[in-house]
Amino acid sequence: MIATDALVIGAGPVGLFQVFELGLLGIPAHVIDSLPEPGGQCIELYPDKPIYDIPGTPVCTGRELVARLMTQISPFKPTFHLGQQVNVIEPQPEGGFAVETSSGTRLLAKTIIVAAGVGSFQPRRLKLDGLGVFEGTQLHYRAPGADALVTYRHRRVLVIGDDDAALEAALALERAGAQVTLMHRRDEFKAAAVTIAAIQALRANGRVAFIAAQATGIEQRDGRLVALQVAAADGTTPSIALDALFVLTGLSPKLGPIADWGLALERKQIVVETASFETGTPGIFAVGDVNSYPGKKKLILCGFHEAALAAFGAAARIDPDRPLHLEYTTTSPRLQRALGVATGS
Ligand code: FAD
Repeated sequence: MIATDALVIGAGPVGLFQVFELGLLGIPAHVIDSLPEPGGQCIELYPDKPIYDIPGTPVCTGRELVARLMTQISPFKPTFHLGQQVNVIEPQPEGGFAVETSSGTRLLAKTIIVAAGVGSFQPRRLKLDGLGVFEGTQLHYRAPGADALVTYRHRRVLVIGDDDAALEAALALERAGAQVTLMHRRDEFKAAAVTIAAIQALRANGRVAFIAAQATGIEQRDGRLVALQVAAADGTTPSIALDALFVLTGLSPKLGPIADWGLALERKQIVVETASFETGTPGIFAVGDVNSYPGKKKLILCGFHEAALAAFGAAARIDPDRPLHLEYTTTSPRLQRALGVATGS
């Protein structure tokens, strides 16, 4: 069991900035996110689109904002637990909360700041009779990691999807020596122009096959998935032989277990007060897109403000006797030491 003063649930932009605000008050944080990398909606939904309303930053992409936040919080050395969803939060009789994730990580947190946005991003699953049992062996909902690519050399791999994630996976698998077929219901893609151009070049010289089709069923033999049955746009119904299937058709947010944590919800958002963004459960705070209060606006800059006040609220819960003063990073030697920028540090 990991003991921590503060646990941040969600590594979106607001959860990341929460780490910074806690760090300024000398509170180290653990951060849990169901996604394999930090960034929340900025990374999952619009990594390369410009954002124009971050104060002091006239323009940056979703990916750039997350990279800057990661740099900004690095002095506080947060511990990330990625690729795992917080399932259970249980108030403890002696105070604090026991938390358990989908991977079995268990923490005992004095305070929790829920920065869970619009919920936990889950891959859109392909619903075909009998397919589910192959998940994790031959069926995958995430692109193969760099280490795994080599295992697909000379294998028949079917990639379903039309966005950057699907096309980049097809390109990486082809480079690794796999026999790649890309499938989408239409011969149109929603990816970066350079990625589409790379795929079209491989199609033109026969190194990647493409079929406009939708899956209708599976074929299995001796406990192995051997082919996907499809209805093609040209009216035919072929079977596509395969050794591995990557379904990369996007992620959708699910409120998921947040609804089971005993917190008051209003239209799927956690109700908070606006002095410290504490929920009705003392010691649990909610910031960013996940919370609800009169006048709430789902903007990153509003989440940043909420994170600053929630940090003070959490500090008061962790140590009610501690005097809390507002200090400026510009002039406070203590803050500058914490940030590693003090003269002579
Ligand atoms: P999120 O970014 O949603 O992150 C929440 C994280 O919590 C996710 O990573 C999720 O996986 C994780 N999580 C949830 N539940 C669990 C759980 N149980 N266990 C573990 N992890 C969990 N805002 C602006 O201010 N300016 C803009 O220009 C702008 N442009 C946008 C463009 C688009 C296309 C979209 C979709 C949104 C845009 N927004 C913009 C909104 C902005 O992205 C959100 O306000 C912001 O991402 C909210 O940040 P967050 O940290 O609260 O939540």
